[in-house]
Amino acid sequence: MTDKSPVFEIENLHASVAGIEILKGVDLAVYPGEVHALMGPNGSGKSTLANVLLGNPAYKVTSGSIKYKGNDITALAPDERARDGLFLGFQYPQEIPGVKVLNFMQTAMSRRKGFDLSLLEVRMGMIEAMQLLEMKQEFANRHLNTGYSGGEKKRNEILQMALLDPDVAILDETDSGLDIDALRIVSHGIEKIQTQRPEMASVIITHYQRILDYLRPDKVHVLVDGRIVASGDAELSERLDSQGFESFQTLDMK
Ligand code: ADP
Ligand code: MG
Repeated sequence: MTDKSPVFEIENLHASVAGIEILKGVDLAVYPGEVHALMGPNGSGKSTLANVLLGNPAYKVTSGSIKYKGNDITALAPDERARDGLFLGFQYPQEIPGVKVLNFMQTAMSRRKGFDLSLLEVRMGMIEAMQLLEMKQEFANRHLNTGYSGGEKKRNEILQMALLDPDVAILDETDSGLDIDALRIVSHGIEKIQTQRPEMASVIITHYQRILDYLRPDKVHVLVDGRIVASGDAELSERLDSQGFESFQTLDMK
């Protein structure tokens, strides 16, 4: 792949949930190595877009296309997308009682790599990634997302991201519910992963400027009522931080 072709490209995407149209024509092109921020008020469709990208069957694409590495993936199942390097960190991660983080990661990493990894190999990888994220080593033996604090859930997401080596990481409000210290650790973790993998692209979905101070997006988009109403550089997110989304909502009405 040359630098000239986007790693994924969305064109005129319309999508609905429970029969209601939520995305009303979204265009977005993300190139390898780019950091995009997707901002917008509650209910504007940010998580819907993330779910559509990952292929959640509850979300129906009604028109438009999603191309990933040059191929239309609209009909591709979520696990096939994940295997091909698309990673989504959920806003509300699911609890999976009875499944240990270590075993979950063994399955996920083996699928991504295309061959079976031993528990020892997975544990070695986890030790390194957990140090990066300043996580306690006994975390590997806990049950997935069960009884986690908000900060632990988010760190676990970033841990998965570090281990799965995605080509595109979509992080849906990874910063929400984090205190200042956890935000710093998680942001630095993402930053280190980005530095280690300069070709990885990321889409950071957030309400707040704080995480963007760490992650310095190349491009910022504002989603209002299922449409991208403004795109710009990091300056746009700073303006949003001081002015709020109001001005963009009026812009959209015109
Ligand atoms: P955001 O992440 O920007 O806050 P969402 O994408 O979560 O927005 O939601 C956009 C709209 O879609 C909201 O009106 C929400 O109620 C609706 N919606 C999202 N997911 C579902 C779902 N699974 N079932 C029904 N409605 C949904
Ligand atoms: Mg959301």
